[in-house]
Amino acid sequence: MFVCGFCGNNSKHGEKLRRVVVETKTVNHPHRYDCYTNSRQTSDDPGGTGTQIAKELHECESCFELSQRQRGTGALIPEEVQKQRAGT
Ligand SMILES: [Zn+2]
Repeated sequence: MFVCGFCGNNSKHGEKLRRVVVETKTVNHPHRYDCYTNSRQTSDDPGGTGTQIAKELHECESCFELSQRQRGTGALIPEEVQKQRAGT
């Protein structure tokens, strides 16, 4: 059981949960010296810039179908779902 992050409804028994990324952040990882070792040598982690998930919502199957129909793939923001529900 879960609460949909878009429509706020409780899920039905056995309903599949979809995780939707709604916000990401850029993270800088520092260079680390001699962090990887094996029996013969050590090596550095070069570090770098990457993307991490900052906010993720659970989506029910009806919201997932609605977002699939409207935009092909991907998720809607909650306001868009509420407007669509109010219109129908
Ligand atoms: Zn929903």
